[in-house]
Amino acid sequence: MIDTFTAPGRFWRGNLHSHSDRSDGALPPEEVCRRYAAEGYDFLALTDHFLGRYGYPITDTAPFRTERFTTLPGAELHSGALENGELWHILAVGLPAGFAPSHSPDFTPVAGQETGPEIAARAVAAGAFVAIAHPHWSGLSLADARSLTAAHAIEIYNHGCAIGADRGNGAAITDLLLSEGRRVTLIATDDSHFTEPDHFGGWVMVKAPENTPEALLAALKAGHFYASQGPELHAIRFDGAALEVESSAVVSVIVQGRASAVVARHGASMTRTRILLAAGLAASPWLRVTVVDAAGRRAWSNPLWRDGADGAGFIAR
Ligand SMILES: [Zn+2]
Ligand SMILES: [Zn+2]
Repeated sequence: MIDTFTAPGRFWRGNLHSHSDRSDGALPPEEVCRRYAAEGYDFLALTDHFLGRYGYPITDTAPFRTERFTTLPGAELHSGALENGELWHILAVGLPAGFAPSHSPDFTPVAGQETGPEIAARAVAAGAFVAIAHPHWSGLSLADARSLTAAHAIEIYNHGCAIGADRGNGAAITDLLLSEGRRVTLIATDDSHFTEPDHFGGWVMVKAPENTPEALLAALKAGHFYASQGPELHAIRFDGAALEVESSAVVSVIVQGRASAVVARHGASMTRTRILLAAGLAASPWLRVTVVDAAGRRAWSNPLWRDGADGAGFIAR
């Protein structure tokens, strides 16, 4: 099967969600890029708030690319109200510079603006990789999440929201979406503003032939990546009865499925872990893998979907 681990190329580490002083971040774009490159990242998407109060920025980071560090254009889009009355936050990576401004003057919804689902669909049509940002922090309802049908991904972890609000984890609503059959992928991000310790805590590892914006964007849309706070995933294989997970040294490997279905293995410095799918997991239409290292840092695989053709395998999407 062609999945994250068998796709051609190598892994590139990047942060998909960050802010500069072009919106409400503390640092100029050049310094944000310099810090991520200095920390060993291969790429960064600067995603300033796409609001009238900031002049609808799609911050140009192309001048800060080097031979070993690249950038993807992007923005955090805002338009329309959630069920709780607050404004949508939608991550758009690979957004072209000519993307037309929305009618979004500030951080509160106004009459006559596009809905969240409408602006998300417009971003996807323009070529962007689109994600539901920080669902817990936003107070997103399941109906809200369900309505953003254009989104490729959801933030399973947002480091800024973890540090600043203890609302960084998007796993609960993610699992509900998966259980409805929604083929969404899972990203971890920083949402860094550099106004608090909100940086270098969550990233994606993207498998692509080269470290270029085009190759990274294609791999993101294809789901060829995993999300991490530190641990590495090297392979996930399904042999018909069990999942075998190869990783950097971890203390827990957990396979989750629909409803309460889960199996966990705990140990010391585990790098190759075989997990037999027990009854609940064997019947689940999807599985995903979480590993935890000795420092409590996690990595999350994208969902694996049961192959509808023969019901005997799982395919990664
Ligand atoms: Zn946001
Ligand atoms: Zn943000």
